[in-house]
Amino acid sequence: MTSLPARHQGRALPLPGTADFTNATQVFNLHAQPRPAAAVTVRSVPEVREALVLARERGMRVRVHSTGHGAGAGRPVRDGLLIRTDLRGGVRVDPERRTARVPAGTRWRAVVEAAAPHGLTAAHGSAGTVGVVGYALGGGLSPYGRIVGLAANTVRAVELLTADGRHHRVDEEHDPELFWALRGGGGGFGVVTAMDIELLPVTAVITGAAYWPEHAAERVIATWMRWAAHAPRDVTTTIRILRLPAAPEVPPELAGRTTVAVDGAVHIARPAGITVARQHADDLLRPLRAIATPVLDTWSEGTSTDVLNAHGDPHTPLPFLGDHMLLGDLDATAIDRLLDAIRNRPTSPLVVSGLRQLGGAYRAPERAGGALDRLDAAYSYAGSGPVLARAHADEIRTHCDEIRRVLQPWDTGRTVPCFVEDFTRPQRHLSAEHVLSVAQVRQRVDPEGLFRVDARSDVD
Ligand SMILES: Cc1cc2nc3c(=O)[nH]c(=O)nc-3n(C[C@H](O)[C@H](O)[C@H](O)COP(=O)(O)OP(=O)(O)OC[C@H]3O[C@@H](n4cnc5c(N)ncnc54)[C@H](O)[C@@H]3O)c2cc1C
Repeated sequence: MTSLPARHQGRALPLPGTADFTNATQVFNLHAQPRPAAAVTVRSVPEVREALVLARERGMRVRVHSTGHGAGAGRPVRDGLLIRTDLRGGVRVDPERRTARVPAGTRWRAVVEAAAPHGLTAAHGSAGTVGVVGYALGGGLSPYGRIVGLAANTVRAVELLTADGRHHRVDEEHDPELFWALRGGGGGFGVVTAMDIELLPVTAVITGAAYWPEHAAERVIATWMRWAAHAPRDVTTTIRILRLPAAPEVPPELAGRTTVAVDGAVHIARPAGITVARQHADDLLRPLRAIATPVLDTWSEGTSTDVLNAHGDPHTPLPFLGDHMLLGDLDATAIDRLLDAIRNRPTSPLVVSGLRQLGGAYRAPERAGGALDRLDAAYSYAGSGPVLARAHADEIRTHCDEIRRVLQPWDTGRTVPCFVEDFTRPQRHLSAEHVLSVAQVRQRVDPEGLFRVDARSDVD
C-alpha cells in the first residue's frame, strides 16, 4: 500500500459521528441520507486512490457522490464506503476549443459563470446547484436540450480512477468502449475526477417562467402542446403544475395555491439571431398570455446565467421523492387524465408535476455518442413532493403509482437515468443489447464489483 496523503495519515477512514463523515455524507436530497460504514471527501487524485486502497483492504463496496442531488437513486451502502468528490482546480475554459475542464464536485453555476465572459455556455440543467459529473453521466436534460440533445453528448473526455487504483483519461481515442459506457451507461465504473465538456456559443437568451391560475390549466396546457408539436429547436420549455406551500422562500403570487407554469429558454447563438429569437418567444408566449393574465411572468431577454433562475428550483437541501417516465406523443386524453389524477387529490403530496419538451436534437443519434445518446420520446414526465413525515413517502409513492397507471398508454418504458431519483423505481434506459455491452465494460474495469452499489440497475 502506498503512503497516505497528509489528511489521512495515521487515521482510519472517517466513521459516523466524526465531522469528516458528516461532511462527506451531505446530500441535497435529505430523504436519501446515505448511511455508509465510512465516508470520505476527496480533493485530489492521490486521495481518491488512497480511499480506494483502504476500501479494498477492508472489503468495502464504494458509492460515489458529488452533491447528493441524485442520492435517492443510489443503492444503500450500509457496509461500504461513500466517496464524496470535491476535487480542487476550478473550472478551466478553453475559448478556442470551446471546452471546459471541470473537476468532479463542480456545480453547474460555476461552469456557466466561467464560460459566460467568453460568450459561451454549457448544456447545464435547470439548477445551478446540481453537480456536473452525476448530471452528465446520467444523460442530462438542459434548457438548451432541443439544440444540443442530451448533455452526455457534450462530454469530450473523462478522467477517472478505476477499481485497480489506476488513473485514466478516456475519450474517443483512448479506451473508447469505457468512454462510451460512461456516457449514460448507468455508472459503477470508477471515481470520476474531471471531465472535459463542450461549450456552446451564446450571445443572449430569452428566458423565464410564466404562471397561470389553476382555472386556466386545460387551455394553457392544450395551447402549449399545440405549439410544442411544431416548436423550433432553439426553444426548450417545460410545463408544470405547481402546488407550492405558503413558505417564505415561495413568491407570494404562487404560495398556497395551484398554478400552471411554462418556463424555459430561447437560445441566441449570434447577435444576428435576436430578431428570430424574439419571434420564437412571441410565438410561444403570446397565445398563452391571451388565455389569462399570468399571476407572475418573468420571461425577458437576459444572459446565460439568468437561465439558471428560470425554473425556480430550490437552492437549499430538502427531503423529496418522486417519479419519472419518458412519454410518447400525448393527446387531450392524456392531459385530462394527468390533470384529473392530480386534481382528484386536493391534498396531492406532489408539489410539482410536469413535462419537459423533448424532440429536436434529443431524437438525433450522436455521431460519436455514448450508451445513451438520444431519446425516442416526446416528453419527459417528472413529479415529486417533499417527505416531511414518514407517512408522506408512502403517500407520494401511491400517488406516483396512480399517475403511472393513467399515463401507461403513453409510457415508452424508458427513462433518463439522472431523473430516476428513487432506486426502487424502474430504470430501463438502455436497450437489451446496450445493457449487455455496458455490463461487459463494467466486468472489465471492475471485475470484483467494488462499485456495484453505484451502478444504476438497468435490467429490472
Ligand atoms: C433541484 C434539482 C434540479 C435538477 N434539474 C435537472 C435538470 O434540469 N436536468 C437533468 O437532467 N437533471 C436534473 N436533476 C437531476 C440531476 O441531474 C441528478 O440528480 C444527478 O444525478 C445529479 O448529479 P450530482 O453529481 O449532482 O449528484 P450525486 O447524487 O452526487 O451523484 C449522482 C450519481 O452520479 C454519479 N456520480 C456523481 N459524482 C461522481 C463521480 N465523481 N464519479 C463517479 N460517479 C459519480 C454516482 O453514480 C452518483 O450516485 C435535478 C435534480 C435536482 C435535485
